[in-house]
Amino acid sequence: MSKKRKVLLVFLCVFLLLVVPAGVAIFFLMPKFQVREFIEQEQVEYQEAMEYQAGDICYGNMFGCQDVEVTRVGEVDTGVLGCYQVTYVYSYQGKQLELKQAVEVVDTTPPTLTVSDNEIAYCPNGSIPNVTVNATDNYDGDLTNKIEKRFEGSEIVFEVTDSQHNTATVRKPAIQKDEEGPVITLNGDQEVYVLVHERYVELGASAVDNCDGDLTSEIVTSGEVNIDKEGEYTITYSVKDKSGNETTLTRKVYVYHKNVEVTPNGKSIYLTFDDGPSKYTSELLDVLAKYNVKATFFVTDQNLTKSYDDVIKRAYNEGHSIGLHTSSHSYSVYSSVDAYFNDLYAIQDKVKRITGYTSMLIRFPGGSSNTISKSYDNGTHIMSKLTQEVEKRGFKYVDWNVVSGDAGEVNTTAEVVSNVINALGNNNTYVVLQHDIKDFSVDAVESIIEFGLSHGYTFRAYTMSSPTVHHRVNN
Ligand code: ZN
Repeated sequence: MSKKRKVLLVFLCVFLLLVVPAGVAIFFLMPKFQVREFIEQEQVEYQEAMEYQAGDICYGNMFGCQDVEVTRVGEVDTGVLGCYQVTYVYSYQGKQLELKQAVEVVDTTPPTLTVSDNEIAYCPNGSIPNVTVNATDNYDGDLTNKIEKRFEGSEIVFEVTDSQHNTATVRKPAIQKDEEGPVITLNGDQEVYVLVHERYVELGASAVDNCDGDLTSEIVTSGEVNIDKEGEYTITYSVKDKSGNETTLTRKVYVYHKNVEVTPNGKSIYLTFDDGPSKYTSELLDVLAKYNVKATFFVTDQNLTKSYDDVIKRAYNEGHSIGLHTSSHSYSVYSSVDAYFNDLYAIQDKVKRITGYTSMLIRFPGGSSNTISKSYDNGTHIMSKLTQEVEKRGFKYVDWNVVSGDAGEVNTTAEVVSNVINALGNNNTYVVLQHDIKDFSVDAVESIIEFGLSHGYTFRAYTMSSPTVHHRVNN
């Protein structure tokens, strides 16, 4: 072996035996950041709480590794879909390591799809009525109008896909069925009142079917109204859907005369109005005049009535009865017989001054059956005395037997109308109590008159010769 080769061999041995192991040892023993666990790419569901993953990083070597400080740069908003980058900075005694993490906020949740029925009935034309479907999505919100339906064999498949391509599917068994008739809706009222010789206008109806949609043009209308002949007429509206389901609806048309006073046998209604007159009384007189109905006004001289003397005059001139309801309408009139008559004569004088007529017709405040008088009469049973005393002095008092409710809890025109017409039957004498200081009650009068005239009643003014209607005296 040459000397030159020997040197080379020694050098190689030294290199292999000393330098390489030393280098390897230095490599493993030199402290540095050790990345034991780190996720570089992550997905988070929309609107879920973000949990930042800083991984498991330490500083050291194979013999020991120290905890490091970690700070994060960058935020992930899980309320907004998209890609975010988060940087983690690890520090140990002035040394730093940066690692980047990609986070994607995704929506992988399908919409919630609900279908109301377990078995779906569908129409012969394939439409699906009466089924309630709903779709809501965590990201897109309400998707109900995006629901698609299709037939698959004997099933109906409901499907909805959100904007992130997540699909919800519901399958339901389906049968063809149409047993529901169209729904008819009348234009105008179900009961119509027309004065004889006036005009009846047929307003028609509309019809909608669950399967066939608008069937208004298919409605068959039958029945005639003879506007020149008093009576009750029926108009019938019929319509069939394509499956043969038929619906029928009727309208009653009452043709009636204006009020005619005939011999007082038969069903009579006495409309009586207490506490007025008021600003509503002249419009009430207009309605009464329109139907030739005479009524009875038990007037007062309270503050609210003071400027309506001309209305009392008009009512009297138009043939209505003017009765006396006391001047003050204060229950203190029940403190004594004298107190009552002083007050009564005051209103009697006033009516005489306005009309020239001495009214002897009265209605007690609260009616003859009132018990409020007990609070004023010191136990003298004033109502028992007054009911006798007024008759001794030639007066006639009248109570009522139909309560409109307008002085109590009732405060709508519709309730007043129904209270009154529901109280009417086959008796001969109905005395209705209303108050012409209440606009909703005055507004009820026209409907009450139309009902009464078309159902065979005659309206009358209450007079001294009208049938007695008295309550039981309770004090
Ligand atoms: Zn009253």
